Amino acid sequence: MSGEEAFVTLATNDGYAKGAMVLGSSLREHGTTRKLVALVGPHVTEPCGHALRAIFDEVCPVDVLDSGDSARLALMQRPDLGVTFTKLHCWTLTRYDKCVFMDADTMALSNIDELFEREELSAAPDPGWPDCFNSGVFVFRPSVETHEKLLTFCAENGSFDGGDQGVLNSFFNTWATADISKHLPFLYNLSSIAIYSYLPAFKHYGRDAKVVHFLGKSKPWSYTYDVESGKVVDFPEGPQAGLHPDYLRDWWRLYTASVVPLLRRAYGDEPVPSSGMEEGSRDIHEDETASSPSADPPSEASSSPRPMSSEERKQRWEAGQMDYLGDDSFANIERKLDSFLK
Ligand code: UDP
Ligand code: MN
Repeated sequence: MSGEEAFVTLATNDGYAKGAMVLGSSLREHGTTRKLVALVGPHVTEPCGHALRAIFDEVCPVDVLDSGDSARLALMQRPDLGVTFTKLHCWTLTRYDKCVFMDADTMALSNIDELFEREELSAAPDPGWPDCFNSGVFVFRPSVETHEKLLTFCAENGSFDGGDQGVLNSFFNTWATADISKHLPFLYNLSSIAIYSYLPAFKHYGRDAKVVHFLGKSKPWSYTYDVESGKVVDFPEGPQAGLHPDYLRDWWRLYTASVVPLLRRAYGDEPVPSSGMEEGSRDIHEDETASSPSADPPSEASSSPRPMSSEERKQRWEAGQMDYLGDDSFANIERKLDSFLK
């Protein structure tokens, strides 16, 4: 046993690599004493690899296509689960005793080293189905044996949601009932979707959030940020939403302060490509890693030009079709709530 412990993340393209850089910087900023490891797919370009190496202790290339037999075999049987198999690769990091996996679209808001006191598999509930854990943040023990079992399980059973969260919940299937110490507080994986679905709870507990998770279709790097004004310029326009504007701004501030200088150095005289939907997009197909389908608000709701009656709005709200960017925006809901509380 080496006694070493690490935070681990994954990026298969430059969009997620930027997410990983912000995550790594956030962990460093809050003074973690653990190692930082990034698993990177072959589509991450060299300037991003360079910036990642400046932040992380280890940047490990993973290409499931040329990894060990069982991984390749599993992938050949289930080509639809490409990124999922790549994520499961974290179990092969056996030079570490214990690790905390964090999605590249998460950001630490405080020091979270206490997570290493937990055992495999510890995770926070998923806001869409709280008897499932959300696989954006979880504690695990690297083990070749577990990795093999996971691959076999995945190849034989597939994933009920098309992504790693389905596989991991089916594999660690006693999480919901067996041991409460494996339930991480929700504050370790706070997703925007939950903020909007239970706003009074967010107002009451939200200030203690330790990790924010930009779960869903739109990611922080899908937007454009104006450094001068300190605002995300293309928010709230567009069909996408669900991100809390304050956390989104925090993400961009950290990106601007800690990541951009590294990328500038890596790109030399060439301009640093701005973030955009293409490079932020997922590698295979859209619903592949989707954890809760409800995380993505339907686009028609936010682009509807016709004013809605309050009854119609109520019906839409009850059907889960909130207009996050318009009438149901965070600021509007907060105003309404304040008027009730007064
Ligand atoms: N991921 C990746 N490339 C992809 C899709 C996903 O590297 O094309 C990794 C990345 O670490 C990401 C995680 O897999 O954070 C899970 O995907 P995502 O966060 O998009 O799913 P969500 O949390 O929105 O359900
Ligand atoms: Mn995620």
